[in-house]
Amino acid sequence: MKLALDQIAESPKDISFSERVEELNLIYKGEDKVRDFRFPSFLDVNLVYYRSGREIFFQGRFGGTIEGRCSRCLKSYSFPIEKEFDFVLTPQPLSAKSKELNRDEMGLSFYAAEEINLSPLIMEQVLLALPIRPLCEDGCRGFCGGCGVDLNYEPCICASVPGDPRMAIFRTLKLGR
Ligand SMILES: [Zn+2]
Ligand SMILES: [Zn+2]
Repeated sequence: MKLALDQIAESPKDISFSERVEELNLIYKGEDKVRDFRFPSFLDVNLVYYRSGREIFFQGRFGGTIEGRCSRCLKSYSFPIEKEFDFVLTPQPLSAKSKELNRDEMGLSFYAAEEINLSPLIMEQVLLALPIRPLCEDGCRGFCGGCGVDLNYEPCICASVPGDPRMAIFRTLKLGR
């Protein structure tokens, strides 16, 4: 979503739109923290924005469905994501140094062009809303480190029958899946 600066007034405006976020699948593919998520093409965004002096204020929320891979059992699952966010854009300062200082210390972002591109800001919010460890459900028991069974479906066989040669073949089969 892009907004022309001269369209932003002091009285708040309320808009709804679909933000394209499928880019997240490419940009962050290599990073550990989001490798286990699959993003839809679009998320629904609702946004209120207004200007106060030279600063521009945004308050919004987004919602949609994201696919995750459970960090315990590795199963894919879908979960709803919804987040409220707000940020303030302030004019780009002349010195690049002060830009970094301000951004880190005050959490501010800047605008420099005649047009504000909200897409990177919204995608950043989407990443912030992701769970740190994706779990298909809170109680997911995952795999047994010993025999490799999915403990959600089967009881562990390594603890109950340690070293039973008749079980060895099952162990191999399960691990080979
Ligand atoms: Zn799971
Ligand atoms: Zn086991």
